[in-house]
Amino acid sequence: MKIIFKGVVQGVGFRPTIYRIAKKLALKGYVLNKGSEVEVVIDKSKDEFIKEVKKNLPDVAKITDITFLKDNRTFNDFKILHSRFGEKKSIIPVDISICDDCLEELFDKKNNRHLFPFTNCTVCGARFSLIKDVPYDRERTSMDEFKLCRSCENEYNEPLNRRYHAQTISCPICGPVYKLYDKQKKDLGEKDAIKRFASKIDIGKIGVIKSWGGMHLCCKINEINHFRKWYNRPQKAFAVMVKDIETAEKYGQLTKDEKQLLLSKNKPVFLVKKKNVEEISPGLNTIGLYLPYTGLHHLLFSYLKSDALIMTSANLPGEPMIIKNSDAFSLGAEVYLLHNRDIPNRIDDSVVRLWKGNNFFIRKSRGFVPEPIAVSYNNRILSVGAGENICGAISSDKFVYSTQYIGNSKYYDVLEFLEQSLRHLMKITMEKQELDAIAQDMHPGYDSRKVATKFSDEFKVPIFDVQHHFAHAVSLLVDRNIDECVVLTVDGLGFGDDGNYWGGEVLYSNKEEYKRVGHLENIPLLGGDQAAIDPRRVVFAIFKRFGKEKFFEGEEATILSKMMDKSPQTSSFGRVLDALSCYLNICTKRTYDGEPAMKLEKYLAVGENKYSFDIQVKNGIIGTIDLFRQLDEKISKNPKEKEKADFAYSFVKSIVDKLTALAIESAKDEDIKNIGITGGVSYNIPIVEMVEKKLKQTNLNFVVHNRVPNGDGGIAIGQNAIIGNKIK
Ligand SMILES: [Zn+2]
Ligand SMILES: [Zn+2]
Repeated sequence: MKIIFKGVVQGVGFRPTIYRIAKKLALKGYVLNKGSEVEVVIDKSKDEFIKEVKKNLPDVAKITDITFLKDNRTFNDFKILHSRFGEKKSIIPVDISICDDCLEELFDKKNNRHLFPFTNCTVCGARFSLIKDVPYDRERTSMDEFKLCRSCENEYNEPLNRRYHAQTISCPICGPVYKLYDKQKKDLGEKDAIKRFASKIDIGKIGVIKSWGGMHLCCKINEINHFRKWYNRPQKAFAVMVKDIETAEKYGQLTKDEKQLLLSKNKPVFLVKKKNVEEISPGLNTIGLYLPYTGLHHLLFSYLKSDALIMTSANLPGEPMIIKNSDAFSLGAEVYLLHNRDIPNRIDDSVVRLWKGNNFFIRKSRGFVPEPIAVSYNNRILSVGAGENICGAISSDKFVYSTQYIGNSKYYDVLEFLEQSLRHLMKITMEKQELDAIAQDMHPGYDSRKVATKFSDEFKVPIFDVQHHFAHAVSLLVDRNIDECVVLTVDGLGFGDDGNYWGGEVLYSNKEEYKRVGHLENIPLLGGDQAAIDPRRVVFAIFKRFGKEKFFEGEEATILSKMMDKSPQTSSFGRVLDALSCYLNICTKRTYDGEPAMKLEKYLAVGENKYSFDIQVKNGIIGTIDLFRQLDEKISKNPKEKEKADFAYSFVKSIVDKLTALAIESAKDEDIKNIGITGGVSYNIPIVEMVEKKLKQTNLNFVVHNRVPNGDGGIAIGQNAIIGNKIK
């Protein structure tokens, strides 16, 4: 009998498990990696064997499919055979944080891997970030330059060892090394490099650390103001790596679920309610915390006096995270801790926010990519996402895979990274490099379309335009595996069918088509992109509509007034939130993407529904401009913080209630049970809870994201599914 296992079955200790079970049951035959599958031949006891496999499945392994075939060959023994190239269909394992056994060895004086930062085994360590091709064997990873020493080779070949066939193992004799460098690129040697680096960080220096999937800028947490000045990021929130879970509780207010997820093997950055550290994320009520995930991180904290480090992807403005040693020095940091292993696949840390057991991925990358998500179509579609915060996606053989987080596509190097990541994803998921179609956003100005054109020319396949919010809606359908839904697609800006910018829509959507049920009233975007950067322009445009002028006067006001009729129009909820945040003086200047709306969330979180607004809905269009007039009438000149919070809450709730009411009406008309929310605004927990509350009065299901990012990082999955279904 031949058995084919599909899923996450390579590089996770699957074959040794099979071997041990076969030995235990006295079976004869073999196990081998074939392409991305595992092939097993056994001579008897099929049912018992499968039962044992399922019972003893390694932690990170995942079986998605088992096929049984006839095989009449006879064998004398059970063996693990060499990998064969076969069908390349699935699934490279993700990077997994160092396991407890390896961690124990790391600090065990008697162990030969004592203080060795690259310690790993079959169930832990870097994988996706260092894999160049499948089958997943050492010679196709960036460990191929490090020849196994005698002792490691023995472990590799001993079926009962936990490093048996672990492709990326090494030890202090044969593995990579960390060295310390100063800012003049001078090699300060490898002796005690980590300890010396830690002492520099402790005295307040800013350092660069090369990790698995890229480089981090790092300094101790109380150097935050120095760091902000040096990095020229006055307001942006930074992720903080904490020594252990106890320290996490010092800086964040953690729920039981959040604690568990912080400790999980994927080790994403978790956004949690913050405690005691305002300056890390000014004006926000959250902080991004994560725990050490490599041997190096653990060693570093063992030497450090500080219990928390700012740890953020190291990149030059607009460029992807740095992965090459030679490029690191352009950062101008004071000290560098670099190793000599290449990084074939750049992968940033993942960022997640948890809401009632659902993962809202702000960034889905290390520890989660590549993840196969089942779809109903067989077509091979390549999709390139939208403009900012993009990911690409590839579908093949009824699965869609997203790339890691890519970045803002208006920069050349980011576009190149998008292209490389898509090529890599094709290489590891497809047997033959072939495509049926390309999907892109319909916004003519997005540079991601250049990548789409390149692939279209190369593979001689058509490109399809997909409306931005339709893609958001379908990304939610794919995420929750449902066929149709009425969706609040709420975000910053997306190009609409009518040439205006959408972002506060109610769409009825299935995977083939959508209907715009309703939306927020259009507001002029004075100067287009300028209005997204300067929220005062949105406030000005709104107030101008009822004859008042705000924030600008004199000549500036005259110029802006003249732009009122010539500017593009938007129904974006994000812009309304920006305007509200700006009007209430919560944030009048944007220094990073989404800042005014994000800072508003802190107020929404504590506000109460104290004020009533009279909001007009005509032909599915929800009036927002008159709301501002009412707000301006009601509010005092110098509102207290609590008063601001209550006004913000009441104002936003009146809009969310109307959007939800339109959705409920449409769901009744279409006779469907699901109402969902997606888009960048759906990261905003108070807003999500307003929708939830309103839906509680109905018998409709509330659908939120869990596997696909809510924001533009999820667009490529939606685009992919729309075109995959369209040409099915
Ligand atoms: Zn391990
Ligand atoms: Zn070795």
